[in-house]
Amino acid sequence: MENNVIDSVDAIVIGAGTIGCATAWHLAKRSVNKVLLIDRNTIGSGNTSKAASLMTLVRTKEELIPLIQETYKNIDEIEQETGEKTGKNKVGTLHIASSEESVVNLKKIVAIANKHHIKNKEIGIEEVKKKVTWLDTSSIKKVSFMEDDSFLDAYLLANAFAKAAKLKGATVMQNTEVIELLSENNQITGVKTTKGIIKSSIVIDSAGAWSNLLSLQLNIPIPMAPVRSIYWITEKNDKLFPHDHPMIVMPDAMAYSRPENGALLFGLREENSPHFHPNKLNPKPNSDFLGPKDDEWDILENYGKDFINYFPEFEEIGMKNCITGISTYTPDGYYTVGPFPNFKGFYAATGCAGAGVAGSGGIGRLIAEMILKIPLFTSAEKFRIDRFSDFDPLSENFRQKCADARSKKKDGG
Ligand SMILES: Cc1cc2nc3c(=O)[nH]c(=O)nc-3n(C[C@H](O)[C@H](O)[C@H](O)COP(=O)(O)OP(=O)(O)OC[C@H]3O[C@@H](n4cnc5c(N)ncnc54)[C@H](O)[C@@H]3O)c2cc1C
Repeated sequence: MENNVIDSVDAIVIGAGTIGCATAWHLAKRSVNKVLLIDRNTIGSGNTSKAASLMTLVRTKEELIPLIQETYKNIDEIEQETGEKTGKNKVGTLHIASSEESVVNLKKIVAIANKHHIKNKEIGIEEVKKKVTWLDTSSIKKVSFMEDDSFLDAYLLANAFAKAAKLKGATVMQNTEVIELLSENNQITGVKTTKGIIKSSIVIDSAGAWSNLLSLQLNIPIPMAPVRSIYWITEKNDKLFPHDHPMIVMPDAMAYSRPENGALLFGLREENSPHFHPNKLNPKPNSDFLGPKDDEWDILENYGKDFINYFPEFEEIGMKNCITGISTYTPDGYYTVGPFPNFKGFYAATGCAGAGVAGSGGIGRLIAEMILKIPLFTSAEKFRIDRFSDFDPLSENFRQKCADARSKKKDGG
């Protein structure tokens, strides 16, 4: 059965997370006739379903910004095309700086925002207090408000992209696992799945944390590794956390937060984020805690002090939930998007650097433009899959480099 040829298509996208679904839509929208999106589970059920889904527009890695801006445009388009909602909630982001170093960085961030026409304004402490009543502002020296920033529900986003792709003619195969990438003379020829062989001269690997398990079959290492992300959700308190409560980026506390249905969702950067061999990950992400269960409280205790200083009522509010999931980090914090030199027809769309929801639309567009050999809407040089040499993506040493990139990340989400 697995060896029967069951179909022949123009492009196969492996993995129906936000990145794969966006890629399928961008291909189908640009008239690639037969686009097939395959997932071994269901649409958006991978690590996409775990995302905090902050869509902060301004990034110190400026090359990410056009990709995120593209996602914002795509959301409007697919919501209109499909009638589906992505849960997009435009509440804006407060970037707050308490230390001198953060003030200097915030000035740089504002300059970047201005360069990319991202709306922002400096606001005074009194206005901050009105917007966020729980925030202890005594240490805060400078605040910038980016009013167009939104968060959403990444699961809904993946499903909306997939539905929009289907409306443009793409096919979606769920509960179908890709077992093997097929090739001849350094040219991809298709995939072997649990349902049979599907031929195609174009295959896009957007299998998230599992991408390397596929690409390494062709001796193609993708420079990224599965690294744990973690966030907490407090008990509900509509008065403290109203629905229009802004997102907050707090670099001095290595923390971010956003409202979550009358509660507060907040994340912290650990000094040593656990990383994993992809073979050790559950192929069906679930609510199990990733790593030692004590981390749930130990991390709060070890790394949450500065956050709690901003939030004196924290202890009284109580905690409802702690969520862990996998992001695919790269050593330099850029995505991995594009072909592998000297190998025809294989493309990677992964290495989300903890911002794959925000950048999904832009990643999908870049891949489609590369495949169709039309001018790229923005430079993809920083995202090249071959930008590191001589590395084993599964090795402990390389995974640690990727985990270090997460621990140092100060942008939102
Ligand atoms: C806790 C947490 C918080 C996050 N917060 C944010 C945030 O605030 N903002 C942001 O932009 N991003 C955030 N992210 C990152 C975000 O979740 C991802 O970047 C984004 O969802 C893209 O994921 P993906 O499509 O690469 O992977 P996934 O969603 O994991 O999709 C990969 C898919 O590939 C499928 N697959 C794997 N192997 C095979 C195979 N052999 N055959 C068929 N199918 C296969 C899987 O079933 C899966 O559905 C967060 C992530 C986590 C875990």
